[in-house]
Formats: sequence, C-alpha cells, structure tokens
Amino acid sequence: MVETADLVVVGGGIVGCAVVHQLAQVLPASTRIVLLDRGPIAGATSGSSMGHLMVTPDDAAAYALTSASVRLWRELQAETGGFDFQDTGALYLADTDEDLALLPVLRDQFVARGDAAELLDARQLRELEPGLAGDLAAALHYRGDAVVLPMPACAAMLRAARQRCPGIDVRPCCEVTGFDRDGDRIAAVRTARGPIATRNVVNAAGVWAPELAERCGQPRLPIFPRAGNLAVTGHHTTPVRTQLLEVSYLRFAHGVAAVDPSRTDDPGGQAVNVQPQSCGSCLIGSTRRFRGFDRTLDRELLHRSLLRACRYVPGLAAAPVVRAWVGLRPYAIDKQPLVGPWPPVRGLWLAAGHEGLGITLGPITGRLLAQQIAGLPADVEARHWLPARFCA
Ligand SMILES: Cc1cc2nc3c(=O)[nH]c(=O)nc-3n(C[C@H](O)[C@H](O)[C@H](O)COP(=O)(O)OP(=O)(O)OC[C@H]3O[C@@H](n4cnc5c(N)ncnc54)[C@H](O)[C@@H]3O)c2cc1C
Repeated sequence: MVETADLVVVGGGIVGCAVVHQLAQVLPASTRIVLLDRGPIAGATSGSSMGHLMVTPDDAAAYALTSASVRLWRELQAETGGFDFQDTGALYLADTDEDLALLPVLRDQFVARGDAAELLDARQLRELEPGLAGDLAAALHYRGDAVVLPMPACAAMLRAARQRCPGIDVRPCCEVTGFDRDGDRIAAVRTARGPIATRNVVNAAGVWAPELAERCGQPRLPIFPRAGNLAVTGHHTTPVRTQLLEVSYLRFAHGVAAVDPSRTDDPGGQAVNVQPQSCGSCLIGSTRRFRGFDRTLDRELLHRSLLRACRYVPGLAAAPVVRAWVGLRPYAIDKQPLVGPWPPVRGLWLAAGHEGLGITLGPITGRLLAQQIAGLPADVEARHWLPARFCA
C-alpha cells in the first residue's frame, strides 16, 4: 500500500523545521506531516551558520519581519526551551570615519521604527565590553538581538511540533528524487525509500531549492549559493559577551550583490562578526563569495576575518582556532526569500532563499507559510516574499 501524508516538507534545515513547527500550531492535531531530508536534520547550511538573531531596521518591512521573528524565537525559548538561547544584544563596531558616520544613521533607523539603540562613547564601550580594543571611539548598542545554536533549536522546534501533532514523521537520510503530478496538481513525492502520496509539498531545500523545483518539472529558481567561511576558538573563556559586528556589514551583506551570483570568479569580501558561544568559545566570521557549490576553505578571506576580529578583540589572538568551515547561504537574486505558493503547480509551496538571515527569519517564515496553507490571515505583511514574482 502506498504511504500517504497530508503534507510533505522537503528540507530539514531551520526553514523546514520552522515550517513543520508552525504548521503544527494551526492544523488539526491529527494532521500527518512528513519531513524529509537527504542528510541529517540541520546538517547543511543551518548547521554551518552563526545563529545571530538580528533585527534589521533598514526599512519598515524588514524591521516588521525580523522583529516578529525574533519575538517568535523568544516564545519558543519560553515555551519549549532545551536549546542554547543567549540574550546577547549586538554591538555595531566602526573603525573608520566613514563607518563611524554610519552609527547615528543606524540608531535613527531603529528610532524611526519605534525601537531604541544607544550610541556608546569610548568609556561606555569599555564598561560594557572590557575585552574590546581600548582605542575604539564609539559603537552602537542594540539590546534586541540574541544568539541561538541552530542545531538544537531545530530539534526543539520538531519536539514542540510533535507534542501538538503526534503524527509528524521526521525522516533524515531520505532523498526526494522526483514528483508525480495529477494534471497541474501535486499527487506524490518520490523518495529513495518509496513514494508518498500527498497533495501538498513544501520545498524548503535551501541552496538546493532550484534543483528540487527542476525535479518537479519547473524552471530553475533564481537562488544561488553564497559561501561563508567561519572559524571557532577553543572552549576558553570568551573575551566578550555581546554579539559584535562591523557596521560595514550592513553595506556588505544587506544590499543586492554587486557581482553576478551565477559566476564563480567573485573575489569576495568580509565584514567581521564575533559571536560568544554559551560554551565559552567564540565564532568568528564571516565572509561572502559566489563560487558555486565549492565548499573549500578560503584561507585568505578567513585570515582577513581573523585579523579584523583581533583588531577589535585583542584577547582573541591568544585563543586557538580549533575548527574552520564553509557554509552556503541561499542567495535569492532580489535579496528577498521566496515564501508562498508556486502558482504553476497546485499544492507546491516554497520557503527558501534567506541568504544570511535564515536563522533569524525561520520562525516568521514558518508562521507565514503555515497561515497561507491553512487559509488564515497573515500576521505580518510579506507580499514581496511571494514566489509568484518569478513566474513567467
Ligand atoms: C557562514 C554563515 C553564517 C550565517 N550566519 C547567520 C546568522 O548569524 N544569522 C542568520 O539569521 N542566518 C545566518 N546564516 C544564514 C542561514 O544559515 C541560512 O539562511 C539558513 O540556514 C538557510 O536554511 P534552510 O533551511 O533554507 O537551508 P538548509 O539548512 O541548507 O536546509 C536545506 C535542507 O534541504 C535538504 N535537501 C536538499 N535537497 C534535498 C532533496 N532532494 N531531498 C531531501 N532533502 C534535500 C538538505 O540536505 C538541507 O538539509 C548564515 C549562513 C552562513 C553560511
């Protein structure tokens, strides 16, 4: 007998796990959902990232979505717990006159959204973070950001989902190889372990979402891998307690990329992030470079990040780097994720393309998609995320 499911979610990264978690909140407890991943849960980009939950004030829509998502993270922590969640806040650092001039601009953006951020002078900065270099003139302190460890967070989401919907089946190491259609509607998912008849599929396959769309006979989605190198120090006492990032990160990471993302000769660049971990180590990133699916460590870019990190936090020079790796951010060509139905195929839904904000935006992505699938009104306006913008 062919297995059946009400819904199949493909991709067990943060986005797929958040979708399952939020579906379980709005659908009847008897709903049968199958989550499939060809590898381990959170074993791809989500397990290779930094976990900075970042409220971005760039514009009203970005602020509404990131702040709503960070609120959902806090609810998950309060209701479920069982994963590393640190209320670190964030310090935006500046080292040049050009970057120092950006700090009040960013502060004014937070204020314009009805939020608050404080400009700290050198003395206040040293009081907050004695581990920072003594010659830094100023920084911007935003208290609303936090840090999670994404892998246990994925597990917490699935645990909470299963408590509400016991029929949720999580299946790692099960590749989706294709789809069956009934006219213009999804009829089944073909997997390495046999077919599953279903009328609803969520493509949450991160940088592989385009490949999965092609397996459903659809055109390749405009999502490209954007490599990021990270390093982690040994379990010493971290010299800082706040998530640190250069304010130039906003210029570097938040604009549409200046290069063609389908090319592989992008020289790349870096803006440093330093993240204290609850175990006492520090994560140091992050770089950005388009070079296809190549996950070879870029030693030169990483070295530049480490030098920048030591410039801001001199104590890091004494902390040995014990591991370094590369993760692939799913970069959507217009810098907005694709969340919603894929109109040419009834029953096919998308949740992919979050680039460097997928950990932050996982919960709100799950919430919005679950509301669409259940036919409920949306919590937050995100029409610009609808994948229909890429339909011919
Ligand atoms: C270096 C780096 C630092 C980052 N730092 C942050 C940060 O501080 N804050 C933040 O918010 N975001 C950060 N990000 C971004 C964030 O990690 C990503 O946006 C997010 O993890 C994407 O999640 P995902 O679930 O879409 O993809 P993934 O985690 O890649 O999950 C997709 C899953 O789909 C599975 N899959 C693919 N094809 C198939 C198939 N055919 N069958 C079955 N399964 C399949 C894969 O195995 C994979 O597990 C960072 C990323 C990187 C690389």
